[in-house]
Formats: sequence, structure tokens, C-alpha cells
Amino acid sequence: MGGIEYTLTFQQFNETLRKKNKLLGLICDDCGKYTCPPKMTCQECGGTNLKIAELRGSGKITTFTTSYVTAIGREVEAPILVIFVELDEGPWIMGNLVGVDPNLATMESIMGKKVQLVATRVLPTDTYSKGEEAKGGLSRPTFAFVK
Ligand SMILES: [Zn+2]
Repeated sequence: MGGIEYTLTFQQFNETLRKKNKLLGLICDDCGKYTCPPKMTCQECGGTNLKIAELRGSGKITTFTTSYVTAIGREVEAPILVIFVELDEGPWIMGNLVGVDPNLATMESIMGKKVQLVATRVLPTDTYSKGEEAKGGLSRPTFAFVK
């Protein structure tokens, strides 16, 4: 054995997000910074003394794009707003934004807005919910504006 192992695997991250709607990350014992989504080493200092931490799932939007292409089985959702959120704990994470008409999204209406993780919608025909993405990909957290 030996070598570096994942303290938090993508599968565990995906499942917790999908089933419990909780965002897990890693906190570094060396520098105290958070890493999310999970990596083998701290994204700040490269340290390996990582512990699993539950993140609040809130932050602000740093960038967004409207996507007209979605995963197989999710076409019904297009177009979708894809955002990057700077989490309160520091890391940036990609997610989807709901509750906003993608056709009406503007820089002014989206950028810098506070968002919170909301229940991820699971569609009956969704390959996403059958574990396809969990094999090597990453679940997309779903966010909405903080009211
Ligand atoms: Zn660190």
C-alpha cells in the first residue's frame, strides 16, 4: 500500500450532494483552508493532512454562462445557467442556477449575487441520478438566490 489516497472520494461527494443535499469539502490541517470539490491534496498548500468538512453551501456568483447543451437525459432542462460560486469558505465550485430565466440573465442580474444550495432536482429519465456521472464526473450543485 502507500501513496496518496482520497480522504473524500468523488463518489462520496456526489452521493452526499444528491441524497442529502449537503456539500462536502476538505479542511486542511496544515493551512486551515478548504478544498472543494474534493482533491487528493489541499488546493492551497498541497498538504495531505485533510479532514472531511461540511460546507454551508452559500456564497456569491463570480461568473456565469448560459448552456444550451446538457447531459444526455437532461435535455428538458436546457437552457440552463451554469455558474461559478465563490463559497463562503473560500473554494470556487461550478453549479447550476435555478429560479432565474436564462433568457433574461444579464451581468447586472447575476454577477456577485448571494446564492444558497437548494434541493437538486432529480428527473425520472435523468441518467445523472443513475450514477453515470458519479463514476468519474462531478455532480453539479444547484443554487438559487438568497431571498
Ligand atoms: Zn493546506
